[in-house]
Order: sequence, then structure tokens, then C-alpha cells
Amino acid sequence: MHLKELKAFLSSLGVRPKKGLSQNFLIDHNIMTKLLDCAAINRGEYVLEIGAGPGAITEALVKRGAEVVAVELDAVFSEALKRFPVTVYGGDILTFPLENLERHAKVVANLPYHITAPILGRLLPRRDLFSTFTLVVQEEVARRMTAQPKTSDYSSLTLFLNFYAEVHYAFRVSRSCFYPAPKVDSAVVHLVLREPPPVDPEPFFHFVRTAFQQRRKMLKNTLATLYESGAVGKALEQLEINPKARPEELSLEIFLALFSHLS
Ligand code: SAM
Repeated sequence: MHLKELKAFLSSLGVRPKKGLSQNFLIDHNIMTKLLDCAAINRGEYVLEIGAGPGAITEALVKRGAEVVAVELDAVFSEALKRFPVTVYGGDILTFPLENLERHAKVVANLPYHITAPILGRLLPRRDLFSTFTLVVQEEVARRMTAQPKTSDYSSLTLFLNFYAEVHYAFRVSRSCFYPAPKVDSAVVHLVLREPPPVDPEPFFHFVRTAFQQRRKMLKNTLATLYESGAVGKALEQLEINPKARPEELSLEIFLALFSHLS
């Protein structure tokens, strides 16, 4: 949908974009093509689209011959999406019954940015249901998702994603490709799910989040709340990790080694 077409469509539905639902609609067809190329969408592909909105990406998916399950919270749009030959779920992606999915799916979405982290938290661990995620997110979030250790963008979110997936920064999307134009640029990130490391995720992420709560402090101090006095310092020494290390210096592998050593 080009801008003129989208504005006419919204006006025919009697609605305006809602800020509270992160409604910034994609109006650039080249970006949609690049997004679906990045997701490698071919005929017969089973796709979960999150936040389908007025349906520009949905239409592009249908044209490629994909079988689409479109989830959309805004009732006006979920009703309007029924003009396409897709399965529509009018509701919240955070409570969408995942057992409704009929087979292994690719996820494609221009995400409602205010709930990016909870969506990833819910869906990413489900390698049994999903193979890849190709997502439009805010540029700053894309940087955090794909950050390398020893950079200021490296965070517990980076480690969470790396735990479950190979994460690739695909390309930048200018704010002018959306209506209404947001204040910041976006980017497409492509995630390929992989077998997670063999540790219990819950205590491991508690450990990682605790380490990052005060990212400028040394691990032996921040993690001291979780273990007996001196245990962290000793573990760092035994694993030959810099005793003054801060969380942003450690790769996922080193975090895993430290966690296992202390457990
Ligand atoms: N896919 C459309 C596009 O690219 O033009 C719309 C993308 S817009 C950034 C995000 C969409 O997610 C909006 O249509 C919004 O109504 C929807 N949305 C917001 N919160 C949601 C939620 N919790 N569950 C499902 N959809 C949601």
C-alpha cells in the first residue's frame, strides 16, 4: 500500500493510526520485497504475521503464495484483514493460543515496538513451532539485538537472543518508509532458531540479568548476592577470566561456563 492508498483505506474504515498500539504502517514496497526476500518466503510457506494492521505485508505474503496466520489486536483491522485468504486471529499476540498453529512456521512482522521484548520472550524459545523470525524493529533495538561483547549495546537481551538463535542485522529502514513516520529509523533483523545450550534457561537468565543490573560494576561484586562470599572471584580465577571483568566483556559461552562452574 502506497501512502495515498493507505490514507484512503484508513479513511474508508474511519480510523487514524493509534500511537498506543505502535501503529506505524509500512508504505515502501521495496522494503516489503526485501523483508520477504530476507525471510525467504516461497510458495506454500507457513507464516505467522504479528500485528498485520491494514495488511500491506499480509498482501505481499499472499502474493508470494504463503499460507498466512495474521494476528492483530485492533478489531477494525482484524475485521478488514478478512478480505485476504488468510487465517485471522483478532487478539493479543501475547495470549495468542500457539496450539492454533498447524505446522512449523516462519515469523514475519513489523513489530508493535512497545512489546518487542515480551513477544521475543514468549516466542523465541519455541523452536518446536518456529524456524526463523524476520522482524522490523527500531534501529536502536536492532543494534542491541545484534551487539558484540565489549560494546555499549551489548545487554542481557543480546544474550537471551544468542541463547536461542543466530541473529543477523539485515538492513536499515528509514523512518520515511512508514506512515506516520516515527521519530527514529528502524532495521530488519533475521533470527534463525537453533538448539539452545543444555542449561536450565530460567536460573541462567536470572544470573545474566543480575550481572547486567549494574553493568559498570565488576561481576565478582554484582553476582556476590547470588553465591557464597568469594565464590565468584574464585570461579573467575579458575576459568582464567579477568577477575575485574564487567558483564559486557563476556560472550555467551563464557557466561555459560561461569554459570555452570558456580552451579
Ligand atoms: N504490519 C503492518 C504494517 O507493517 O504496516 C502494521 C505494523 S504496526 C508497526 C504494528 C501493528 O501491531 C499494529 O497494527 C497494531 O495494531 C498491532 N498490535 C499492537 N499491539 C498488538 C498486540 N499486543 N498483539 C497483536 N497486534 C498488536
